[in-house]
Amino acid sequence: AEAALRQSHKMEAVGQLTGGIAHDFNNMLTGVIGALDLIKRRVGAGRLDDLDRFMDAASSSAQRAAALTARLLAFSRRQSLDPKPLDPNALIMSLEELLRRTIQENISLRIVANPRAPQAIADANQLESAIVNLAINARDAMPEGGQLTIETSVVELDESYVALKPDMRPGPYVVISVSDTGVGMSPEILEKIFDPFFTTKPIGQGTGLGLSMIYGFVRQSGGQVRVHSEPGVGTTVSLYLQASNAIAKERLETPLPRAPDGK
Ligand code: ADP
Repeated sequence: AEAALRQSHKMEAVGQLTGGIAHDFNNMLTGVIGALDLIKRRVGAGRLDDLDRFMDAASSSAQRAAALTARLLAFSRRQSLDPKPLDPNALIMSLEELLRRTIQENISLRIVANPRAPQAIADANQLESAIVNLAINARDAMPEGGQLTIETSVVELDESYVALKPDMRPGPYVVISVSDTGVGMSPEILEKIFDPFFTTKPIGQGTGLGLSMIYGFVRQSGGQVRVHSEPGVGTTVSLYLQASNAIAKERLETPLPRAPDGK
């Protein structure tokens, strides 16, 4: 059951990713096909002037499609996970130096390691890269400066909470949250942030893969990502990761208690 559950998390992430890619890739192909079609008709009508423009359009669409598949390959190579108990406080503190170098001078960094935070079950490399990614997003959201806070805490998610999320277990979760005092997001943007390749950043600056990768990795680890954002106020992204004693608890309590709605 454990392996099946893990596999279904993986499939969910892959399904979301491929859906988004198929859509974008299709748009790019439509661009190529449309331009080729125009070129053919113009050549047929003997209008050879101005063909360059359509050839350039076809070529740039095809190049974007190639860049997309290159990123997809890079993405799929990074997917191997090795979830193990880790100390979330040690992890965020070990990133402090790197983060200070990554953020701008007009941004102040606050790291709040809650001594009550238990060990979390996650892949250390993926978690590090998730936090760095979130910090970069926070930095990008604060061009005029502000405050970046990375904080650990612990919450107990009860049955009524996880009942709504069939693949989450009740029990203690470690929360790692990354908050900024930046531009925030409108509801329309917020709705799309986990879509692969969704970005509002200029070409070359954003891949739109950061949050979808983080989402995939956290879900595969049996956790959850929550985002709270207010335009003009700021954004908090919280990663909920199973606390390692949740596993111990789970082994004691088989079968798992049923959700209140009987599902
Ligand atoms: P990327 O950063 O490459 O655009 P992400 O998947 O990390 O890709 O983010 C997708 C989009 O979500 C961003 O382009 C931005 O519009 C929005 N976003 C993410 N984090 C924040 C944040 N902290 N504040 C405001 N907007 C954000």
